[in-house]
Amino acid sequence: MNAEILSIGTELLLGEIVDTNARDIARALRQIGVNLYIKTTVGDNRERIVQALQAALSRSDVVITTGGLGPTVDDMTREAVAAATQQPLQLREDLIADVGALFKRLGREMGQNNLRQAYLPVGAIVVHNPVGTAPAFIVEAASGIVISLPGVPREMKYLLSHDVLPYLQRRSETPSALIKAVVLHTVGVGESHIDVLIADFETMSNPTVGLAAHEGETDVRVTAKAPNEAEADRLLAPVVAEIKRRLGDAIFGQDEDTLAQVIMNLLQQNRLKVVVARTAIAEAAFAGWEALWQAGFFRWLSVPAGQMTATTETDARTLAQQAAGEGYFGLALTGVPGGGRFPEPGEQPGVTFLALVADTTPIVTTLPFNGNDEVSHGWIARSALNAVRLRLLRADNIQLADC
Ligand code: ATP
Repeated sequence: MNAEILSIGTELLLGEIVDTNARDIARALRQIGVNLYIKTTVGDNRERIVQALQAALSRSDVVITTGGLGPTVDDMTREAVAAATQQPLQLREDLIADVGALFKRLGREMGQNNLRQAYLPVGAIVVHNPVGTAPAFIVEAASGIVISLPGVPREMKYLLSHDVLPYLQRRSETPSALIKAVVLHTVGVGESHIDVLIADFETMSNPTVGLAAHEGETDVRVTAKAPNEAEADRLLAPVVAEIKRRLGDAIFGQDEDTLAQVIMNLLQQNRLKVVVARTAIAEAAFAGWEALWQAGFFRWLSVPAGQMTATTETDARTLAQQAAGEGYFGLALTGVPGGGRFPEPGEQPGVTFLALVADTTPIVTTLPFNGNDEVSHGWIARSALNAVRLRLLRADNIQLADC
């Protein structure tokens, strides 16, 4: 079964609020094995909602809308669903009583406009809303199913879990299908390099394999769809094993693992700490990695003011040697600031020298970026942490940084 989400509301379209409903629905659909291929956002405009609904129904079995079910004139969802499914609106006597009873419970007067909420497309299945005033509904039209939920997240989530998911599970041909993913986290290897190494997997259909890159880390997501977890695991296992074999030490962890946590575990196992020479570039790169310092695994070594902006490879080597000691790796970053990882035409590209002293011999590597932006800093910090990690794993080659 294929579904789409249509988020309705001008506030959402203009970015005034974040579409948490679409996120929550997407996650819930995944749990019950319903495919989600497209999400759309549209403002409070009847014609555009109708167009979006028609387009969605032409592609998918089910369209789940959120928002626009309130009592006011700019709440257009009921009318738009009626138009898109060609089921005219009809006053539902059962709903007048429903909405009226709720207002009575709340001790509030029911306004004339609340009656708008008692109009639904002909034949719609009512989804009673005990946590709000707007009834939700399901229209099973010839062109597909439309499920309309309120925009208020608390109400949406309640109806989603109590009514909509059980409904979809009943309707779905493979009632208990689930989707399970394993995410392998890599560091220090560019996305394009990984792409070359596992390209043959990226065209598979079950499991699917996809890449997502962020500042020096690339995630490889392997996703299987199966009637039960054991079958999903059976599909995932050989693909995950082969990707692990091909990517080797570039993989630092899986699923919930973070690079910081993995490094801290390795340092703890080896009873080691890292002392970092406090150059300007190291300070900038490690902003955001305070957890390593707070947990006591990393410490700063103050450097003379003149060395803060040191630029050469020799400087890096010397500073790392000064930082190192019994039980301590010494780490230093120096470099020539440039125009970021991808300098604009005419800008000087930067360069960073990374020196790590472990077991007295400095390992020095040159990173081809040293900009002032967060992306460069992300790459520099991860490259440095990766050098420490690979050293702790006793890997021979720490020159994996590739952009
Ligand atoms: P109600 O009848 O309670 O007014 P409604 O179905 O008309 O519900 P909207 O008026 O569209 O819903 O939205 C009500 C509020 O819910 C919005 O002001 C916003 O704060 C929140 N909301 C709406 N849509 C979303 C969404 N997709 N994600 C997160 N919050 C949302």
